[in-house]
Amino acid sequence: MTKNANLFARLFDDLEDPSKLAIETADGNRISYGELIEFSGRTANYLVSRGVKVGDRVAAQTEKSVSALVLYLAVVRAGAVYLPLNTAYTLNELEYFFGDAEPSLIVCDPSKHAGIEAIAHKVGAKVDTMDANGDGSLREGAKKSSPEFSTIQRSGDDLAAILYTSGTTGRSKGAMLTHDNLVSNALTLKDVWRFTDKDVLIHALPIYHTHGLFVASNVTLFSRAAMIFLPKLDPELIIRLMARATVLMGVPTFYTRLLQSPNLTKDSTAHMRLFISGSAPLLAETHREWSARTGHAVLERYGMTETNMNTSNPYDGERVPGAVGFPLPGVSARVTDPETGKELPRGEIGMIEVKGPNVFKGYWRMPEKTAAEFRPDGFFITGDLGKIDSKGYVHIVGRGKDLVISGGFNVYPKEVESEIDAIPGVVESAVIGVPHADFGEGVTAVVVSDKNAKLDEAVVLHALDGKLAKFKLPKRVLFVDELPRNTMGKVQKNVLRDSYAALYSGK
Ligand code: AMP
Repeated sequence: MTKNANLFARLFDDLEDPSKLAIETADGNRISYGELIEFSGRTANYLVSRGVKVGDRVAAQTEKSVSALVLYLAVVRAGAVYLPLNTAYTLNELEYFFGDAEPSLIVCDPSKHAGIEAIAHKVGAKVDTMDANGDGSLREGAKKSSPEFSTIQRSGDDLAAILYTSGTTGRSKGAMLTHDNLVSNALTLKDVWRFTDKDVLIHALPIYHTHGLFVASNVTLFSRAAMIFLPKLDPELIIRLMARATVLMGVPTFYTRLLQSPNLTKDSTAHMRLFISGSAPLLAETHREWSARTGHAVLERYGMTETNMNTSNPYDGERVPGAVGFPLPGVSARVTDPETGKELPRGEIGMIEVKGPNVFKGYWRMPEKTAAEFRPDGFFITGDLGKIDSKGYVHIVGRGKDLVISGGFNVYPKEVESEIDAIPGVVESAVIGVPHADFGEGVTAVVVSDKNAKLDEAVVLHALDGKLAKFKLPKRVLFVDELPRNTMGKVQKNVLRDSYAALYSGK
């Protein structure tokens, strides 16, 4: 028989020490690798008893808990396809996901049970519950089931998960991720970030997204390391835990929030070996402040739901502020002209395209959309604009759809934002294109300033004068208390564009 390519089998078939600690929770529960496997076996048996068959989708909209992670492992083990959903999705949004993915089982918080039950029957799905402590009908059922479960045979190209992309325009698309996609990326990251069984990861990310679910959890489990599971970002608790942890993975907001604490010092971070950031751009300024305060250079990496991780700054070697590093081993990256697809010379800005075992199989039930986003030679068109510098570091300048075209000229928001961010008193900024009768789009800056700084539009425009070509200069500079962000820390430029849509038309 061919070797089982199921992610679960590759994670645990050669486990040597079942007593090794896998997860510790904020309230002191300690779960060993052996227990994780036992719980997943019980849960897998329960899933089968609920009618879940190989290839079926199992959707989960649950709070973060060890049971929620066990559910993911059990679904994969049973040969089904795990479909995690952001806890913020409303019933209206869920109805679309359920209609599209047609899960045979949905696991949800008891508070949403009645509402979800009503839409689940339309697609013939059963519903189980799981609360923030992991309690509910799923666990009750699992407890009564046998821990013995023979992991279902899967090939590397079979689906392990579908993750809907956070897509800010159009309908969300389900990214189909295979067992090989997840395994290859986790093993690569384990190596490049030097994970070992001595590591203790502070895990404060949600587990419905590729970052917390695959990058953080799979890398830890493949390394036989331990993770401390926290329900959310709690800067003071994280700083205390650093005394006995070794790695933190976070979105940029983690780092800006931690920097606000006077308790973040060289001493309090002395036990840590690695700080990793991703999912949204880490400001070069934050990177420098972090290095100055702690003596650690944050390691920034770049990835997306469809591709897992693509690039990473080096473990040894320079971690360049504002850059996302080199393509990972086995991953090819190139920058092309967005119109023609022709590869551009080094240093020029264009569309980032990637190819490798990390890249997904396509969008669920959207063959045309899938075909449109791959080049004939297999490269995936990421939608991110960027460049590769002379040393080979990849730099991202923003999403293609955030590009501003003013008077026929391309304006890359990041270039303008970097100049604005360098003005004393500016905390951060977002540059967007707003409809403009003369220019098509007017370059518009939305700025968060330091409470004590006396900044206004004129000061910012004056500071930019001579720094940027005239066509890149903002037509207006607006001040806000904070930029709108989603849960992964990404600035929601679409929200800003909607808010200021009438800025130049006065309508
Ligand atoms: P998601 O699919 O929700 O993980 O979003 C993926 C997108 O996040 C990418 O296409 C990038 O636009 C952005 N992203 C992820 N990591 C970084 C990073 N280190 N720097 C800049 N943008 C990033």
